[in-house]
Amino acid sequence: MTDTKYILSLDLGTTGNRAILFDRQGNIVGQAYKELTQHYPHPGWLEHDAVEIWRDTNDSIQKVIADKQITASEIAAIGLTVQRETCLLWDKTTGKPLHKAIVWQDRRTSTMCDRLRAEGQAEVIQQKTGLVLDAYFSATKLAWLIDWVKQNQPDTNWDNVMAGTVDSWALWNLTGKQVHATDESNASRTMLMNLDTKDWDESLLKLFDIPSQIMPEIKPSMGLFGKSDRQILGTEIPIAAIFGDQQASLFAHGCDRPGLLKCTYGTGCFLVAQTGTEVTRSNNQLLSTVAWSTLEQTNYALEGAIFTTGASIQWLRDGLGLIKYAADTESFCNQVEDTNGVYFVPALSGLGAPHWDMKARGAFLGITGGVKKEHMVRAVLEAIAYQVKEVVDAVNKDSDKAVSLLKIDGGAAKNNFLMQFQADALGVALERPVVLDATAQGAAFGAGLAVGFWDDYQKLVGDRQVDKVFEPGEGQSQAQENFAMWSKAVSRAKNWIE
Ligand code: ADP
Repeated sequence: MTDTKYILSLDLGTTGNRAILFDRQGNIVGQAYKELTQHYPHPGWLEHDAVEIWRDTNDSIQKVIADKQITASEIAAIGLTVQRETCLLWDKTTGKPLHKAIVWQDRRTSTMCDRLRAEGQAEVIQQKTGLVLDAYFSATKLAWLIDWVKQNQPDTNWDNVMAGTVDSWALWNLTGKQVHATDESNASRTMLMNLDTKDWDESLLKLFDIPSQIMPEIKPSMGLFGKSDRQILGTEIPIAAIFGDQQASLFAHGCDRPGLLKCTYGTGCFLVAQTGTEVTRSNNQLLSTVAWSTLEQTNYALEGAIFTTGASIQWLRDGLGLIKYAADTESFCNQVEDTNGVYFVPALSGLGAPHWDMKARGAFLGITGGVKKEHMVRAVLEAIAYQVKEVVDAVNKDSDKAVSLLKIDGGAAKNNFLMQFQADALGVALERPVVLDATAQGAAFGAGLAVGFWDDYQKLVGDRQVDKVFEPGEGQSQAQENFAMWSKAVSRAKNWIE
């Protein structure tokens, strides 16, 4: 271990795939990234090409190694972290996906969820998995994929089919098609894992008509998953950690005790609060989930998952063409005093926590003749902060100690306007680290600790530097006052589609 210098972290996100090299000090020394194509075959549907995910992952690995001119034998371990819930089926002989992967934001199975709810299944599902019955999770997506294959490829031999979330797909490819596994943090998001046994729940597999032999083996998040195929890096490197992206970021922020929490501002926003080594159940529509695990111990968390935050900024860019770059939103917002009475409801994929309304759709309300595009952009950013406020309020209701500091990360956390408005809306300080890639960092920390490249988690976490603390400021009273109007707008957008 002494002659190795790096940990390779693979961060396979919703908008893109990234390979990042971390050195012994825990610093980023090199990275390669490729944006991922988003396929929208119908309103409310979103697919990814799993072949593209693996090709870009492999290309990023090769590029970061070539750019930094290191040899693969200098890498001690690989850590993998992925967009969660997104799932696919593939053929283990050809190695090809049977259909595009269905992405977590995809709502195509909402009627299936309605039917299950009408049958009275929601409570059992929540009891077993800790999750709110919703199309967000993998179970109904896998059921849809299986059904599609049965209809379109009726001769399929199900003994040759593998199912998995993106981590399983990447792991299987990384190990030269040898290892079909997942970790407990990703498995806890499928709505098929029993939170108490941490194994696939037979009755849920049956409910969704999923053959158990196609499912990956569930393993602890930190520990040996397998070794990378020689063909990829010219040498075998242990894959020593797998985390869901939000859990990886929680780990990087050092949130290892009850009371510590973080919010990641990416495609969606995910507020995750560490709850310790026992499962905690929410009374306010938050999810109970695995934070991470080793062979010896499992840590759990409560989570508020908000589907559309950075995605609404992508929509301003790609859908409406109002901005050229996501970062432009900051200067747009600063050009106006307020939103001129405009409120935006970011229900582009329905609403997640705390509403869980699959039928809600996006809305701009309060538009009058004087409204300019800067007001609309500002309304979109303010809506991101208000959604997070709703979840912080839910966490406060679930806990006897009020949230007093929020650790933040993710692409949209770069936006100073958004972060200041967030601090104002919450009346709580926000702490932004220098390294905003907390997701990749968490997977690197996990893998490095698992193989003994590092031995002190607290030191790794303690060495992270704070870039900026956003204190609630003079905008506080206005931001908090407008929250009531925004909530009214949300109520109008709920239960919209038939
Ligand atoms: P993910 O892991 O979900 O793919 P990232 O953490 O990489 O997401 O963040 C990307 C998201 O952040 C995109 O939705 C993008 O619109 C948004 N984003 C990036 N930079 C900014 C910025 N300066 N201001 C606002 N949003 C931003």
